[in-house]
Amino acid sequence: MNIDPESKLFVYNSLSRNKELFEPLSPPHVGMYVCGPTVYGDAHLGHARPAITFDLLFRYLKHLGYKVRYVRNITDVGHLENDADEGEDKIAKKARVEELEPMEIVQYYTVRYHHNMDQLNVLRPSIEPHASGHIIEQIEMVKSILEKGFAYESQGSVYFDVEKYSKNHHYGVLSGRKLDELISNTRKLAGQTEKRNSADFAIWKKAEPAHIMRWPSPWSDGFPGWHMECSAMGCKYLGDQFDIHGGGMDLLFPHHESEIAQSTIANGKAPVRYWMHNNMITINGQKMGKSLGNALSLNDFFSGKHELLAQAYSPMTIRFFMLQAHYRSTLDFSNEALQAADKGLKRLLTAAHEVKQLQADDKAPAQNIGKLGEECYAALNDDLNSPIAIARLFDAVRLVNAVKDGHTRINKNDLSLLQELFQVFVFDILGLETETGGSDDYLLDGLMETIIQLRQDARQRKDYATSDLIRDKLAALQIVIKDGKEGTSWERK
Ligand code: ZN
Repeated sequence: MNIDPESKLFVYNSLSRNKELFEPLSPPHVGMYVCGPTVYGDAHLGHARPAITFDLLFRYLKHLGYKVRYVRNITDVGHLENDADEGEDKIAKKARVEELEPMEIVQYYTVRYHHNMDQLNVLRPSIEPHASGHIIEQIEMVKSILEKGFAYESQGSVYFDVEKYSKNHHYGVLSGRKLDELISNTRKLAGQTEKRNSADFAIWKKAEPAHIMRWPSPWSDGFPGWHMECSAMGCKYLGDQFDIHGGGMDLLFPHHESEIAQSTIANGKAPVRYWMHNNMITINGQKMGKSLGNALSLNDFFSGKHELLAQAYSPMTIRFFMLQAHYRSTLDFSNEALQAADKGLKRLLTAAHEVKQLQADDKAPAQNIGKLGEECYAALNDDLNSPIAIARLFDAVRLVNAVKDGHTRINKNDLSLLQELFQVFVFDILGLETETGGSDDYLLDGLMETIIQLRQDARQRKDYATSDLIRDKLAALQIVIKDGKEGTSWERK
């Protein structure tokens, strides 16, 4: 697909609350930072959405010719319960409950997170820094904010002075929150005694005696505030100011708002040009949450072993389902919606493979395949409108099926454009298959269909030795073949 030289990418910037033309600071280089997981449990749908959203952006920017440095952190220290300044560290709590070293928890869940992301065909970021590996950088940043007079020490902890900052800056520029409301909303909370103002946030916390994750600092043995890590690591790897910062909408406040304030003071300029946020996920119309019993892990979806799930859903079905919605819309998961996505994905991938086998007919009149490609670009250029791009790809699916069924003909030039359309948009940009040539399910379905056909052929010619051999070999792989009235089916044991 030739990229239209006039084609321009517009993205919705949470800062201006508008779609803006994407113009990187130093093209063709793009710096992109996305808040990664706090690794104290298996990844759930809430983790999959930013991963897939910014994977789409990463892939698309690379396709457009940008050289992207994509940083996605691992939070392994400083993220306290309820995203607050008080309470237990999420990692440390899990370590205490499991009677493990905190870094054993971090290692275990980081490996599992990577595995889930690979299953979803989410490309690895260029750099994946750990918060605990950047304590020095965070301490340096705290020092710099103290020197500039925008933080104060209190009983071994250091707090960012939001009131002072607000005199010349807008704390709330991203989230739209107002300082007076923040103060009145948080006044009632406990543990405010160390702070001058309830809106202030910790950039360094003194560790209580029982707190196991601690490092020496000029102020106390302690640990960095949660927001510090992203400011420090973003600045270290992408510079004082970089192009894109992404994450879930739940991070707008206080996390990203505080990142802006800290970095602005430490570096003397606003850290990020385009703030991008994906919307939230609901399950059967309900907010997802541990207390509601519906915080399903990705592994629950992949195995189908959860009371809310009617069946297992493949990683590609989850990916496709998310891409079928615009990233700034809320997305509701239900069995019906996932089953529909599963069917749609199969149709799309079947056509994407069958288009490679179609025969061209040179007498066929020219069709406007280029227009389909232009429309896919136009959709993605409009703030990554993947649902519109997918709708255009289904127009291409209908064309593939019409040619396959002999209802229409296609000439050689159009066919190669059509093949390229599927390759570029379905595989490269939407990432709907692994590079080795098939999502597990697609490949497995195809292979099983062939094997079942071979077994039926053997039985028809009364070659029972072969048909039994096939059945036994499959049984050894935990695959059961069932002969029924509707034909032969298979399932995993
Ligand atoms: Zn972050």
